[in-house]
Amino acid sequence: MSKLTNKVAIVTGASKGIGASIAQHFAAAGAKVVVNYASSATGAEKIVKSINDNGGTAIAIQGDVSKEADVERLFAETAKAFGGLDILVNNAGIYQHAPIEQVSAESFHQQFSVNVLGSLFAIQASLKLFGDKGGSIINISSEAGKMPMAAGSVYSATKAALDAVTIALSKEFSGRKIRINSILPGIVETEGTHAAGFIGSETEAKLIATTPLGRSGQPADIAKVAVFLASEDAGWITGEKISVSGGVYGV
Ligand code: NAP
Repeated sequence: MSKLTNKVAIVTGASKGIGASIAQHFAAAGAKVVVNYASSATGAEKIVKSINDNGGTAIAIQGDVSKEADVERLFAETAKAFGGLDILVNNAGIYQHAPIEQVSAESFHQQFSVNVLGSLFAIQASLKLFGDKGGSIINISSEAGKMPMAAGSVYSATKAALDAVTIALSKEFSGRKIRINSILPGIVETEGTHAAGFIGSETEAKLIATTPLGRSGQPADIAKVAVFLASEDAGWITGEKISVSGGVYGV
């Protein structure tokens, strides 16, 4: 039996990048997976096809996690398709780096609405489906929450906030068989970091120079740890912030 056999998982923001890899690794470990996305239907369908072609089970469900009604629909459709939920990965996230002079209320609210409020909405909805058997929640935060970089004040604040959510809820879930942990990736090569200009930049070179393992991360580096945290192998782990970053110590 694989590590996640008979489990149902929702991975938010799984049409590309880290979320897509987590969805693929969960399916390879036996889970039935919901590939959530905001606007990239084609990307999500591609990930679903790759999973189903490899003998796994996945469906794509659109939903903007920052909209409560979308999140409710995402979880209702999941229950209809798969009958319940065991694992939630709050991976959907946006990063908008800017010096303080250029920080706007709009950018602040966008980032907090997706990265923090969206995760809270999804956690609330997951509780109803977990029921008495409990479940596992994984928040994809960032090393940036622990070691903020210049021009990353707002993004870093969202990830530090998400880690605070992890710790608070690990206590709140006492006695409810719900584990909740954060994964803190360092820089990872994804569609998002390519589009933002991080990959190949001076910033990436500086980060690699302070990374003992000497490279940027790949989505699979994160996904393998997500499989572990979602599985019974991590049954005694909750409220933790786990760095998955090649040991980066920051710039
Ligand atoms: P990415 O390549 O930009 O992909 C982002 C994913 O999130 C896409 O599937 C996107 O869906 C989805 N998404 C964005 N806004 C959404 C919303 N409102 N509702 C639902 N889905 C939404 O991102 P990534 O680099 O893989 O990053 C994934 C997560 O890891 C983020 O939380 C990020 O902060 C965190 N992280 C990344 C790095 C890194 O270096 N890459 C490092 C540390 C932490 P659409 O395609 O449909 O828009």
